[in-house]
Amino acid sequence: MSVTKHNWTKEAVLNIYNKPLMELLYEAATIHRKTHDPNVVQVSTLLSIKTGGCSEDCGYCPQAARYHTNIEGNDLMSVQQVKAQALRAKSAGSSRVCMGAAWRNVKDGKAFDQVLEMVRTINKLDMEVCCTLGMITQNQAQRLAEAGLYAYNHNLDSSEDYYKKVISTRGYQDRLDTINNVRKTNVTVCSGGIIGMGESIEDRAGMLVALSTLNPQPESTPINALVAVAGTPLENEKPISIWDMVRMVATTRIVLPKTQVRLSAGRTQMSREGQAMCFFAGANSIFAGDKLLTTPNPDVNEDMKMFELLGLNPQKPFAKKMQPETVEASNSQFEALGEKPKWTRPGHVIERNEIAKEKFKGLK
Ligand code: SF4
Repeated sequence: MSVTKHNWTKEAVLNIYNKPLMELLYEAATIHRKTHDPNVVQVSTLLSIKTGGCSEDCGYCPQAARYHTNIEGNDLMSVQQVKAQALRAKSAGSSRVCMGAAWRNVKDGKAFDQVLEMVRTINKLDMEVCCTLGMITQNQAQRLAEAGLYAYNHNLDSSEDYYKKVISTRGYQDRLDTINNVRKTNVTVCSGGIIGMGESIEDRAGMLVALSTLNPQPESTPINALVAVAGTPLENEKPISIWDMVRMVATTRIVLPKTQVRLSAGRTQMSREGQAMCFFAGANSIFAGDKLLTTPNPDVNEDMKMFELLGLNPQKPFAKKMQPETVEASNSQFEALGEKPKWTRPGHVIERNEIAKEKFKGLK
C-alpha cells in the first residue's frame, strides 16, 4: 500500500513534477493501481443552483458581479428543479451531484434551509451529494452533514502566494478554516485548484503541498484548467498545454495517493488521447453535462463513447464511503445560530481585477 505523507516540501513536489514524463507517468500510474481501480472513473454532475451576482472578485470567475460577462444569472433553484436535474444526471450515469451557489459565504435563513432540503432530496435518490456554497461555519457544516451531505467542496485554487494575485476579497486562511469546519463533521472534503491562471510551476507545487499537509488529506481534489472568459480579469490567459495538465494530474496522484483526482473544467480543450493520458496518470473522476457551472463541457454521450473506447466503467455511488443518513428538518439536532463570522476581506489591490471592474463600469 502506498503511504500518505503529510510533510511534503515544495522542492520534493517540484522534483516530481519536472521528472522525465515517462518516469512521472509510470510512477503515478503505479501508485494509482495500488490505491484505486484504474478502470473505474466517477462521473459527477455539477449543477449551478444559484448563478451569478457574486460579491467576490475571483479573477477567473464570470459569476462575479463586478465583471461584465455574458452569463445569465439565476436565483436559487427550487427543490423540485434540482430533483429533476439530479434524476436526469443519474439516468445518464452520474453517481454524484455537486451543487454550486455563487455566494461568498452561507447565511442562515430561508435560502440555506432550501439547500438543506435539496441535500436531503438527492441523498434519498441514492446519489452522493456535494455542495460548494462558499465559506461555512461549523454549525452550518453540521447541519449539512445531518441532511445527508457526502462532500463539501472548497478549493484552495492555487498557492497561498498566488492566491493573493487572483482574489482580494478573502484570505487563504478563510479557505483553510472552512475546510477545518467541514472536517469536524463526517462530511468528506473536496478541495483542489485551477492551473493556467498565469501561476508558476512553483505555485502549482505550493498548492499541492498545502493540500497534502491537511490531515487527513482531502478525499477529492479537482484539477481545473482555466477556461478564460471574456470580461474576467484573466480573459487573456492562454489555454494551458495538455502536458501541463498531465504533469499536474500525475503529481497530484503521487502527493495525494488515496484522493479521488477530478479532471474538471477545461476538458473541452482536451483530446480523447489527452484525457486518456490523464486517466493513466491517476485522474479518476470527470464532470459530466454540457456545462460546468457557466463554462462549456463535453456532451455526456461523447463521454460515454470515450468510456467505451477506453474500457472504463463509471464508479458506483458510495464506493469509497458509506451513504450518510438523512435526518429530516423536523428532527434536526442543530438549530440555525444566525452567526456572523468574521471572514476576512484583505482588500489589497489586484491591478487586473481593477481594470476588469473599471471596464464594466465604463459599459454601464
Ligand atoms: S468563484 Fe465563487 S466566490 Fe468567487 S466570484 Fe465566483 S461564485 Fe463568487
